[in-house]
Amino acid sequence: MDMKIAVIKGDGIGPEIVSEAMKVLDKVCAVCSHSIEYREVLMGGASIDAFGVPLTEETIEACRNSDAVLMGSIGGDTNTSPWYKLEPSKRPEAGLLGIRKALNLFANLRPAYLYKELSQACPLKKEIADKGFDMLIMRELTGGLYFGERKTVTENGIRKAIDTLTYTEEEIRRIAIKAFEIARKRRGSVISVDKANVLDSSRLWRDVVNSVSKDYPDVKLSHMLVDNCAMQLVKDPSQFDVVLTENMFGDILSDEASMITGSIGMLSSASLNDTKFGLYEPSHGSAPDIAGQNIANPIATILSAAMMLRYTFDLDKEADLIEKAVSDVLSEGFRTSDIYTEGTRKLSCSQMGEEIARRIG
Ligand code: NAD
Repeated sequence: MDMKIAVIKGDGIGPEIVSEAMKVLDKVCAVCSHSIEYREVLMGGASIDAFGVPLTEETIEACRNSDAVLMGSIGGDTNTSPWYKLEPSKRPEAGLLGIRKALNLFANLRPAYLYKELSQACPLKKEIADKGFDMLIMRELTGGLYFGERKTVTENGIRKAIDTLTYTEEEIRRIAIKAFEIARKRRGSVISVDKANVLDSSRLWRDVVNSVSKDYPDVKLSHMLVDNCAMQLVKDPSQFDVVLTENMFGDILSDEASMITGSIGMLSSASLNDTKFGLYEPSHGSAPDIAGQNIANPIATILSAAMMLRYTFDLDKEADLIEKAVSDVLSEGFRTSDIYTEGTRKLSCSQMGEEIARRIG
């Protein structure tokens, strides 16, 4: 297969970790006879330095003309970087919001997987951590409370703030379809999370998800209220496969799910539109505190590249090769400093990329 990938290395540790993901992708391509054409473009702080704005039309066009985008993190130290003296619409993060909007990326996927070798980093009780977990939170990214009408008014001398939570059936249907499709590539189960005992938007959500599920009889669907889901994530995370939810619930639950893995440098993510196109990036930020030292953990970005092969290119076998190489490296005792424990072997960022690439093929 010939793949066209736009690459946004980003700021801070971004260039270091993306280079390692490219190293691993190149190895997969060499082993499995695929080819990749990379087109490197700027966004975030690097784009501000070069062009005065965090996102240019050229970057958007390069992404649109590619099959997928591989991205590092963007942004700098929010206390000291001059980027944060600019008005909010000119700051690095505005680039991220802009590109999501320009590419219509409405589905955000964040896997939370507990490697047994890293289970001591899991903050849950040992008997819960020992069972392990492997879930994927699918969050609607462009609708709901964060995008509804809002205002603050004063009535009889008392201020009142109003936010509105709106979803159309189309917005719900398109993300539900994504969730069922992706569940078919995993363990075939979707838990849809809502607050249908209170909210009309949740009742519509549940209704539409139920109707979409009729087209996926092989996928098991159940519903869970969001407050219960928040509890179940710490009580028995092993029960979850694909967790489908709206924007605000997903914002909170995906952070909770990340937290229980205990290893921020390991968490990948993807944002998809209604084609096979996706933007793949680590869940963590640009870690300016360790940038340029070759000590960052590149695994989240490498696993994001595996997600890209699986979800944009349907190259499941190739994605498995990367995920297995990561597992092997960990079980052989190699660690970057963020996940280092006594008795394991500490590697730099580039050494970790090399060890993973070496185990492919
Ligand atoms: P952060 O995730 O960058 O860092 C939090 C802590 O985790 C730091 O101590 C950092 O060293 C460590 N860490 C993060 N990733 C690591 C890795 N791969 N290997 C080893 N250690 C790692 O969060 P922050 O410090 O709050 O934010 C820094 C910048 O990143 C800010 O400008 C923020 O806006 C930006 N940010 C960007 C994104 C994105 O691009 N999607 C997401 C979150 C934060």
